[in-house]
Amino acid sequence: MSIELVKYLESARVKFLRITFCDNANVIRAKAIHLGILAENLEYPTGITVAQQALPVMSDTVVSKSGLGPIGEAWLIPDWSTLRVLPYAPTHARVLADLNLDGQPWSLCPRDFLKRAITTAEQAGIKVMAAFENEFSLLSSRNNFIVPTDDTVFASTLSMDLNREIIDAISDALIAQEIIVERYYPESAPGQQEISIRYADALGAADHQIVFRETVRGVAIQYGLKASFLPKIFADKAGNGCHLHLSLWQNGQNITGNGSGQLSTTAQNFIAGILHHLPALMALTTPSTNSYKRIRPHFWSGAFTAWGYDNREGAVRVPSNPLPPSPTHFEFKTVDASANPYLALGAVIFAGLDGVRRNLNPGEPVDIDPGLFEPAELQERGIKPLPQNLGEAILHLSADRLLLEALGSELSRAYLAVREEEWEVMKEMELDQEVSLLLERY
Ligand code: GLU
Ligand code: MG
Repeated sequence: MSIELVKYLESARVKFLRITFCDNANVIRAKAIHLGILAENLEYPTGITVAQQALPVMSDTVVSKSGLGPIGEAWLIPDWSTLRVLPYAPTHARVLADLNLDGQPWSLCPRDFLKRAITTAEQAGIKVMAAFENEFSLLSSRNNFIVPTDDTVFASTLSMDLNREIIDAISDALIAQEIIVERYYPESAPGQQEISIRYADALGAADHQIVFRETVRGVAIQYGLKASFLPKIFADKAGNGCHLHLSLWQNGQNITGNGSGQLSTTAQNFIAGILHHLPALMALTTPSTNSYKRIRPHFWSGAFTAWGYDNREGAVRVPSNPLPPSPTHFEFKTVDASANPYLALGAVIFAGLDGVRRNLNPGEPVDIDPGLFEPAELQERGIKPLPQNLGEAILHLSADRLLLEALGSELSRAYLAVREEEWEVMKEMELDQEVSLLLERY
């Protein structure tokens, strides 16, 4: 860090700098340093216990099967390019950090895992661009009941009027942090909103996901509301997805399409890799017990191992553009914001590259609604059922050699231990119990 940055933070009247990271359970955490001592600690990293990567989402109780315990210190190494003053908490600034151990990137650092995926893609001549498309719920609580800010339907202009000020404030706060806001509409469920942002390179996209979640929650607090990205809050209403939009690039050119309205072979191979690894991938992209209450047929949540052009029920949708070039990207829907974005996107990249390397074929694009077909017909079309709960997804990940090797032995051990603990503790929970425990975690 340079003394210029300290001066910039001083002139912005910042009091605390939050050195921020996201753990295996996808809890965003930070240690803050006061501006008064920052100048004399420019090169001095902030430490955290290694056990931080062994905590399940429920509580700060170390899972011993993770291989981590009270002994050992990892160091937060800020990436100064991510430094931002927080528009919703202007006396604080945030910088995103990598985790180091013994002067090296720590094998359990999620951000470094994504960097390894990016490097592997580069070695295959592919650059991945991405955006997480968040849905979230705005809520207040009354007498221990959760009350959504509206009870409107999809794209309702009434919801726009009711929530205009907070939506404007969230957008302004994102823009102030150099994120380009693209579109907004009220989503289907009560209090549910969707704001989409511009794609970025893979690391930037995952960083933006942290900024997005922090910003929505921070602004909601200013308005006396709760914001939640929990995948399923109301049993019979749409859940909160966090679809992952992806495009593949080579030598500065988007190579997702083939120039004649279809996907390129490389993009098809990449999608085939995602579909092939999907049951295991879900332990990273839909990793909470609650995630599986969202993934249901007829909820447009990616409940089938299928892909198709403009098909909102399959795991992968290829949206067509109204004007050429088309398609320019594809959308992986079996993702929600309970996923650590670095781990989820890194794993998706490794799975997609496996498809490219092995020249996997994703099969024919699906142009039916798989939710309307009998299991036997689905099987004929090669459409397979997905894990029905986190426990099943964990078993698939535990047996997926490609993803385990990509994660590495230490990260996969700790990650699986954390998620297994969550599954053991929460598998019998009813939705309302799970919602009250997790609503404000994600
Ligand atoms: N809310 C749906 C989901 O759970 C997505 C609806 C849509 O934007 O297509 O993923
Ligand atoms: Mg949506």
